[in-house]
Amino acid sequence: MKRWNGWGETHIEIKLPAGAQNFLADLVGRPSPQKNAAREKMLTTVPPSRIDTEKTPDFIYTDQACRLDHAHGQSLPDWTALRFGTLNRFADAVAKPETESQVEDALGFADKHEMTVIPYGGGTSVVGHLEVPDTGRPAMCIDLQRCSRLHHLDTENHLAEFDPGVNGPGLEAALKAHGYTLGHYPQSFDYSTLGGWVVTRSSGQQSLYYGRIEDLFAGGRIIAPAGRLNLPPFPASAAGPDLRHAVLGSEGRMGILTRALVRVRRLPETDDVYGIFLPNWKAARDAVQQLVRADLPLSMLRLSSPVETMTNLVMAGHEKQIGMLKKYLRIRGLHDSTWCMLLLGVIGDRRAALAGKKRAMKIIRKHGGVSAGTPMGKAWKKNRFIAPYLRNTLWDRGYAVDTLETAVTWDRVDTTMKNIEASLKGALEDENEKIHVFSHLSHVYPTGSSIYTTYVFRIENSARKTLARWHSLKKAASQAIVDAGGTISHQHGVGVDHKAYLQAEKGELGVDLIRTLSARMDPFQRFNTGKLFDTELTEIGP
Ligand SMILES: Cc1cc2nc3c(=O)[nH]c(=O)nc-3n(C[C@H](O)[C@H](O)[C@H](O)COP(=O)(O)OP(=O)(O)OC[C@H]3O[C@@H](n4cnc5c(N)ncnc54)[C@H](O)[C@@H]3O)c2cc1C
Repeated sequence: MKRWNGWGETHIEIKLPAGAQNFLADLVGRPSPQKNAAREKMLTTVPPSRIDTEKTPDFIYTDQACRLDHAHGQSLPDWTALRFGTLNRFADAVAKPETESQVEDALGFADKHEMTVIPYGGGTSVVGHLEVPDTGRPAMCIDLQRCSRLHHLDTENHLAEFDPGVNGPGLEAALKAHGYTLGHYPQSFDYSTLGGWVVTRSSGQQSLYYGRIEDLFAGGRIIAPAGRLNLPPFPASAAGPDLRHAVLGSEGRMGILTRALVRVRRLPETDDVYGIFLPNWKAARDAVQQLVRADLPLSMLRLSSPVETMTNLVMAGHEKQIGMLKKYLRIRGLHDSTWCMLLLGVIGDRRAALAGKKRAMKIIRKHGGVSAGTPMGKAWKKNRFIAPYLRNTLWDRGYAVDTLETAVTWDRVDTTMKNIEASLKGALEDENEKIHVFSHLSHVYPTGSSIYTTYVFRIENSARKTLARWHSLKKAASQAIVDAGGTISHQHGVGVDHKAYLQAEKGELGVDLIRTLSARMDPFQRFNTGKLFDTELTEIGP
């Protein structure tokens, strides 16, 4: 069963090792855990639907439970509202279509009742994409998860046509049965959907080899109030601007993606991950930069800072094995106060992967790195989608965890990372609150890298005060990103949490172009109103 007020399945729990509790208490302070709101009580706060429930088609639901479960994503404000029981905006109806024609029926229903429409994929947004807008109008959430079929696997052209609501495991299982893969593995893989990936410009953990979703999305269909936009899956085209990019990153504001054609590959013969330790940040960063430019068959280069390396080892527990690892690395001349862990993915046909691995290890050795082999990589692969469960455990202990990310060119990576971390550490100085902050480079490119920062802070005794802390932290870090010339998001998107910073990178004209495009597709501005860019209430038509 899915957890209603946190991440994942209720039967999966991560225990916090004893060492980790003391570690956090030293770095952040002793927490005061708060009582979670009870679901039964929360249900009583969901107001009656403003829609005539007698007349809804049978795939449109208006019950309190369904409306509560679709009124949020996984952002920190969403969590705060759920845990303290302060969530206060709910869609009036939730449609769960199974086919494209039912999506059209749902849209017709929403039109008739002049409702705003919130497309809903897996509900894993971390930037407020699913917040119900306060427009005074009734709202309909369209949950696409029942639209999850593989329509066609075209092995001649390496294309697969899917419904938009298929989630990671469903999509990969359908392809694997025929020896194919998409290779898109965001950490939210278990729940997030193909449609959600496309419209948020998602990035999977092995994007170095497979590409980001914009490389994988070949075409499809979007249904909007203005009509149907069909995007043929050309291998390439010089026929004017590429309209796929009007859909990629559209965050529900251009209509509903009802079909997606994706570029698939044969399953690779080799897909290994190695745990590598490098002596310090400079050596590690230089090694990664050289590796990404070496044209090797690599699927992943994920480099943790010294603080993140230490934090990951403490959180993992396994004190005996980690003690042995430390001993081994010390013998090899690496010191645990400065070392950096690198996860290196090698992929492809057996011979090319072997040759690539040898060349990669040569670069690593040149930078003083030591390989801990595949066991650490295997453990990472096994638990790659489990790590977010730690967020449940930590919240119950009184700690909030949030992440943010950006991307910059290589010349700015070090200072940007330093400035983001410093901005977070200083954001609650007035309250004498300490913040534990750590980062990694999650997706690297020949010209630059993404920076993914995690921060841990103590929750307060009310939603209002906890949110005030988060706002100070988020504002400080977002400003540090903008000041450094970074993008406000490398992979999570804009939603409501980042929209104030969008103009800094797109410019006034750029944001205006996005608004104009959205207004053409959705003249009455009723699709996911208020996300990506602000919509004046006066712009929302009949
Ligand atoms: C624990 C965790 C780990 C994560 N890891 C990653 C990661 O590694 N990489 C990454 O890129 N992101 C990651 N994310 C963020 C999130 O998973 C992505 O943004 C994901 O792409 C959202 O997909 P979804 O199906 O859950 O969409 P939702 O959260 O349901 O919706 C997101 C947006 O897409 C719109 N939408 C959804 N489906 C459609 C459709 N068919 N047509 C039109 N609009 C639609 C919604 O209206 C909304 O604006 C993570 C999130 C969590 C909670």
